[in-house]
Amino acid sequence: MQTRFSPEQLADPDTLTSESVVRRCVHCGFCNATCPTYALLGDELDSPRGRIVQIKEMLERDAVPTVETVRHVDRCLSCLACETTCPSGVSYRRLVDHARAYIEARYRRPPGERLTRALLAAVLPYRRRFAIAVRLGRLMRPLAPLVERVPGLGPAAAEMLRLSAAPTAAVAQPVAVVDRPVRRVALLEGCVEPVVGGQVQAATRRLLARMGCEVVAVPRAGCCGALSHHLGREGQALAFMRANVDRWSEAIDAGVDAIVVTASGCGTMLKDYGHLLRSDERYAERARRVAARVRDISELAAELGLPAATLEDAPAIAYHATCSLQHGQRIRDVPKHLLEAAGFRVSLPTEAHLCCGSAGTYNILQPAIARRLGARKAAALDAAAPAAIASGNIGCMAQIARFTATPVVHTVELLDWATGGPKPPALDTHGDG
Ligand code: SF4
Ligand code: SF4
Repeated sequence: MQTRFSPEQLADPDTLTSESVVRRCVHCGFCNATCPTYALLGDELDSPRGRIVQIKEMLERDAVPTVETVRHVDRCLSCLACETTCPSGVSYRRLVDHARAYIEARYRRPPGERLTRALLAAVLPYRRRFAIAVRLGRLMRPLAPLVERVPGLGPAAAEMLRLSAAPTAAVAQPVAVVDRPVRRVALLEGCVEPVVGGQVQAATRRLLARMGCEVVAVPRAGCCGALSHHLGREGQALAFMRANVDRWSEAIDAGVDAIVVTASGCGTMLKDYGHLLRSDERYAERARRVAARVRDISELAAELGLPAATLEDAPAIAYHATCSLQHGQRIRDVPKHLLEAAGFRVSLPTEAHLCCGSAGTYNILQPAIARRLGARKAAALDAAAPAAIASGNIGCMAQIARFTATPVVHTVELLDWATGGPKPPALDTHGDG
């Protein structure tokens, strides 16, 4: 696609990157076929190709974003299915990330939206604040139908209350002692997963110990920055990234050779640190070093080899490949193969490329589209009548669980169970297996 950026505009590294992305696009529209918003809404402006054109025009003209452009960029899930499909290698994520930051800096949203976004940015990335918010949300959940009617703020606030229903599992973390470790690894604890998915990290620690890994604590490592990044709050996101690069660089210097991630959305962000901090002279090199050591738990398990499976009569599982794993990190079949190696019978849903609608804060900010995607995904997974649904990201697990009675667990909980760990709590609760 031709562009008309001036040399002055191209002096900005983000504009330069966006220009090269746009020029790669040949406008063929193959990406439209796998875009969830285009599938639901059927509007070219809600397709990747349509968004590329709108973002290009906004950036070229240095324009104040229009309500229309903001609406269509906001509706994008950043699922990156379009990147997987594109035959020309268009790195759409660079363009939409730039557009989100540009909009955040130059567009004044209505008061309700501003408040919602400010609240999300002030609460979600901070573990303690998020834990308090979840407790408060549970108390106030019966008020959701009333809250929904508050103009501007209502639908998002009501959705937050409904999401606070996700069961918390604050499991005490066992300290794994490994005599002669084959690897020293740090586990990304993050902000949301320890509050609503403590069982995931407990299972990961057990599995890592069984695979011969010593898990090293990295104090003060915090949110990966993805939530702020996708809200267009680059200043906040960069602050999180720099703090983490400091902490993990120290850990790497002390002998940690992998940073293990169980929330695939965070993993995609961490693997991108090298690019996101490329213009920061103090951090660029260390950010690349950190990013190169990031491993999704499924990658590391495949690399080290699963311990022998001990589970008799492992149940049937439907596997949901999260967008951040299959499109963001291009890890597609590894988790399914691991589950099969552990003895589970694994089915994949139809439309496996489609997003479940979780997408970070998307299910709060765009609840109508997110609900349709969540219901569609859950129905596709349930078609095989599985005993459980497995996925690799806490946000996707909570989203899918809202639309199905089938227990939803993290892939690592099943791998841990099959190789000697306890049965996942969600399966026990459902009295299944
Ligand atoms: S598939 Fe790639 S090249 Fe074709 S329109 Fe989409 S982004 Fe552009
Ligand atoms: S990231 Fe997902 S929702 Fe956004 S344009 Fe690409 S396919 Fe569509």
